[in-house]
Amino acid sequence: MLRLFLIFSTLFLSLSKMPVFAGQLDGDRLCATAQAAYLKYRNLDSGENANYIKALQAVDPKTFGISIVTADGRICEFGDYNAAVSIQSVSKVFTLALLMREKGPNFVEETIGVQPTGMPFNSVLAIENQQGSPSNPYVNAGAISTVSWLTPQNEPELWKAIKENMDSFAGKKLAVNTDVLQSEMEDNKRNLGIATLLDSYGKLGTTPLDAVTAYTKQCSVNVTSHDLAVMGSVLANDGLHPITHKQILKSDYVPHILSSMVMSGVYDNSGSWFYETGVPAKSGVGGGFIAIIPGKMSIGVISPPLDQFGNSVRAQRAVSYIINQLNLNPYAN
Ligand code: GLN
Repeated sequence: MLRLFLIFSTLFLSLSKMPVFAGQLDGDRLCATAQAAYLKYRNLDSGENANYIKALQAVDPKTFGISIVTADGRICEFGDYNAAVSIQSVSKVFTLALLMREKGPNFVEETIGVQPTGMPFNSVLAIENQQGSPSNPYVNAGAISTVSWLTPQNEPELWKAIKENMDSFAGKKLAVNTDVLQSEMEDNKRNLGIATLLDSYGKLGTTPLDAVTAYTKQCSVNVTSHDLAVMGSVLANDGLHPITHKQILKSDYVPHILSSMVMSGVYDNSGSWFYETGVPAKSGVGGGFIAIIPGKMSIGVISPPLDQFGNSVRAQRAVSYIINQLNLNPYAN
């Protein structure tokens, strides 16, 4: 019966663009607040699209979608929630989950690391400073390293495993943004340099080219704010997918993923973000963003203009607004 209600309410939502409400959390208020955040920030004109990947510069900077999926699978969304951007670094969370599933949390801590770098996400100096350690799974070095330690030993198999895992979080087959992929592959010298440096320290599980190629494909997968919120909702619900009802990740692993997001999810803005909201989040340079309120909900946003750290400006403002208006900071009593 409940399932039937969810199917109809989701259908109704997609047809009418009207919000569906959300659970024990006083859904009307949640949706009204998400809508207020959307209206408050949709004309905010600050930040710039990433320009070091040429195809990202061409994305309409006005694109702005907000989606919320609660831990019991209810949905509320506003704006361009059907528009897609490339997932970029938000993907790193899900491939980390895959590595953890394969090798466990100790392997992640020892091989990739869980420490913030205090440096930009594509820093080479950060690797040198740590004698070849990638530091954490969310800087490029750590994400490339994560890919390289997955079980498959060649690029096509690596990519297949990564994509299937992302699809299982999304509950559907995601598409690849071929323009972004081509654009990034054509100009991937820095990531290749990072991978080669890691390899020189003996810190890569495959060849640098295989790891970087699979990693770049992973970053070019298209997602909407809806997809991001659905993917994040698995983490908000202890690894159990609230919509497909599959156990995607062992519940014991979820706190490790969320803690790693707290420490480094929005790069050098992680401290300020956590100070303001108290929740784990992850950004990508395509403008994608997820925030997880454990046990309650996931918020997915897309909006391409970025701050100086590489995080979506509107997404951070909108999510912070929702969290503070609704007192969702887990540290607030
Ligand atoms: N694909 C991008 C890169 O490798 C991802 C960076 C990001 O989203 N922060 O630079």
